[in-house]
Amino acid sequence: MAQAAAHARRQAEWITVAWQGISLLVPEDWYPAALGTERASGYLRVQSADGYSVEVKWFQPRHTVDLEREVAKYRKTLERGARKRRREFEWRDKPKVPERESRPDKSRRFFAWRSEGQALGVIWYCRTCSRVILAQVVMPPDEESSVLASRILNAIEDHGEEGMERWAVYGLEVSVPAGWSLDKHQLMAGYTMLQFRRRDRVVRAERWALASVALKDVALRDFVHQKSRKFWKDFSIDVTEAPSGPHPAERFSGRTRKVWLRGVAAVRRLLRRPAADWLTAQAWHCDTENKIFAIHAIHPRGDLEVFEKALDSVTCH
Ligand SMILES: [Zn+2]
Ligand SMILES: [Zn+2]
Repeated sequence: MAQAAAHARRQAEWITVAWQGISLLVPEDWYPAALGTERASGYLRVQSADGYSVEVKWFQPRHTVDLEREVAKYRKTLERGARKRRREFEWRDKPKVPERESRPDKSRRFFAWRSEGQALGVIWYCRTCSRVILAQVVMPPDEESSVLASRILNAIEDHGEEGMERWAVYGLEVSVPAGWSLDKHQLMAGYTMLQFRRRDRVVRAERWALASVALKDVALRDFVHQKSRKFWKDFSIDVTEAPSGPHPAERFSGRTRKVWLRGVAAVRRLLRRPAADWLTAQAWHCDTENKIFAIHAIHPRGDLEVFEKALDSVTCH
């Protein structure tokens, strides 16, 4: 009972975890435990310390997809696993779903099972992003949490809006245009980095925790210079005007040091297919959250559209 009460209390605060176009709303103390790195197919799991989790599998079917067959396949996998471990397994095909919203571009098919744990799950095909999404909330066997489960499942989004896709993980939230792919990432409590790429263009978002410690003896400008030395090594970076905003901020920019790329960029500019020959970055200190944020972009000179969209999309506090 105490556990259920603790859960109810915690549900006051929810956070977004968004990854590969999949966006989840979960209680704020849940954390990502698995994050697939492929857009076309993958798996992600976000969990709590006390045995709750939400798992999402996604894939792009080559032909038309038969959801009933996918559900039957999944049921078989679970049954086989339970048999191996000599556990009871109970499957419910049309479970009661306490909170259910209909969605125009997807018809959702719910299921539930009970074994060592219990789960409420759902599968659908999204016509907009052409992916099959199979999601389930797994809970301890002795808890009645179907409201929590249905709320989490109802809130799952599988693609972005207006051509932008949101990424949110460990307190770093940023949007990049659809079609950009995750290039690199680092996910730690003290430091989170997401880097996206489309051909020669790059957007990189970073978040450092404990800003007050990091900036104790060093100015923001020097901190960012030092941390970005490797990422900036091919560019001649200058500090430009300090942008205005709610927080102290620094703007950096400069062109590539690579002579051949300058030549290529000059030619491609004439052909109206400009090359990414320029780097722009902005960093700021969010004192409310005690964090430092930075957005960098490698882009054709003068084309700041994606950089500015990414910058505007960051919610720091
Ligand atoms: Zn979709
Ligand atoms: Zn802030």
